[in-house]
Amino acid sequence: MTEAAAVPSPAERAYRAAASVVDPEIPVLSIADLGILRGVEVDGGTAVARLTPTYSGCPAVLAIELSVEAALREAGFEPRVERVVSPAWTTDWISAAGREKLRAYGIAPPEQASRSLRALFGETEVACPRCGSRDTERVSEFGSTACKALYRCRACAEPFDYFKCI
Ligand SMILES: [Zn+2]
Repeated sequence: MTEAAAVPSPAERAYRAAASVVDPEIPVLSIADLGILRGVEVDGGTAVARLTPTYSGCPAVLAIELSVEAALREAGFEPRVERVVSPAWTTDWISAAGREKLRAYGIAPPEQASRSLRALFGETEVACPRCGSRDTERVSEFGSTACKALYRCRACAEPFDYFKCI
């Protein structure tokens, strides 16, 4: 991505405002990093942000929608948020930058190809975000939130959250 030297167009300003919203559960990740911001369209003074919710029933979804509305309003637009449910979001939509941010934050990013056989059978080999060892074990299906599982690294003995694949 390159920084535009010229004054950003209204569509760019609206997109940047919406893309600056972070996931309330993982504040290092913006909704653009997560891949749930599908696009922003500007029509006159109205900005329509299209969002695909991550986990259905995840309480973060509503909080994110409200934050996007607030960000667009602050940027000078009449905000509207549209929920796009198809195609369904998968963890494969998380950007490469987003995966790096997760690791730096101490959360093991989801392994790519969430539709692999391995994921189907629930056997995910998860690398420790601290030391990179794959000698890890799942301690609990649920970590600090329902979207994460709690793992422990046998190499460095540190517990960590794993962002679950869906
Ligand atoms: Zn480790």
